[in-house]
Amino acid sequence: MKSIVSNITSLRQELPDNVKIVAVSKTKPSELIMEAYNGGQRVFGENRVQELVAKQSELPKDIEWHMIGHLQSNKVKLLVPFISLIHSVDSLKLLRTIQTEAKISNRKIEVLLQVHIAEEEHKFGFIKDEVVEFFEHKRIVDFPNIVFRGLMGMATFTEDSDQVREEFRGLNVLFQQLREQMSSGAKQFSELSMGMSGDYKYAVEEGSTMIRIGSLLFGSR
Ligand SMILES: *Cc1c(COP(=O)(O)O)cnc(C)c1O
Repeated sequence: MKSIVSNITSLRQELPDNVKIVAVSKTKPSELIMEAYNGGQRVFGENRVQELVAKQSELPKDIEWHMIGHLQSNKVKLLVPFISLIHSVDSLKLLRTIQTEAKISNRKIEVLLQVHIAEEEHKFGFIKDEVVEFFEHKRIVDFPNIVFRGLMGMATFTEDSDQVREEFRGLNVLFQQLREQMSSGAKQFSELSMGMSGDYKYAVEEGSTMIRIGSLLFGSR
């Protein structure tokens, strides 16, 4: 197998400069994360709070940790001290909890709102209309300790690349629409997290600024 660093390097070379790579290290041991780290990678994504917290405590402090998996409200306080970005904010309840905990810790927490774009029911996220309504009603002001950085979405797991493209394109349309509506705050609302190992090429072509890549870098799980 090729090394993690060479996998990251060749992926980097394929991508436009504005597209960031979140190295998804879930289930992978810290030694492999260090291999990527020593090759220059600083942004890592995990989907389970316990695992994320354990890795954060033993790995270098300049790693930017991203939470990419479904987050239960009662675990938010474990992440607040160090998390760089939460991709997977999928309910108002979770937003409220993040606001409360961030305020207690006197921190600002950066988040993406996860939008349900896939056919599958089991994937989490707001529906598009809820997101539109949220910003139309200027609900942002209720969350002074939250920085809204953009949107995240996961496409349907299918061989049908036209469908995947269509879902990503639809999310980008929503993203651009929200940016236009926002008079202030649009500058920081700049990230569109979409694309994984199997579909990042389509995601990038459809406007992704952040791809979450696990198996392509670290091997299968
Ligand atoms: C696991 C995971 C990824 C990465 O998946 P790969 O197919 O291994 O690249 C991306 N996003 C989320 C939300 C994940 O849970």
